[in-house]
Amino acid sequence: MHEISIVRNVFDTLQETYPDKFDQITKVQMEAGLLSNIQPILIQNAFEALILEEPGLADIELEVVQLPIIAHCDACGQDFEVVRHRFVCACGTPSKKIVQGEELQISKVEFFGN
Ligand SMILES: [Zn+2]
Repeated sequence: MHEISIVRNVFDTLQETYPDKFDQITKVQMEAGLLSNIQPILIQNAFEALILEEPGLADIELEVVQLPIIAHCDACGQDFEVVRHRFVCACGTPSKKIVQGEELQISKVEFFGN
């Protein structure tokens, strides 16, 4: 299962980044671009499966925020949102220059007490 390795990786990264305060983490927010094909519900299910293996994670809230696909138009210099795979700017110029939508990253970490 793809998602469980993603979630495991997220918490491995957090453990490496915050070795002293990992056990004080209360909330983790992830950002997943729509092109990353990450389904928030599958990430939540994977997180619950991981908690069964590592009960210490049960106090952490995991939130997944989906980011829209944004492309840049070289013709008019504007960024535009790609809706229903329509890679065409409001000015009519097609562009597949993605500036947002492929990322999968930890965007916010909250700790107990702050
Ligand atoms: Zn344009």
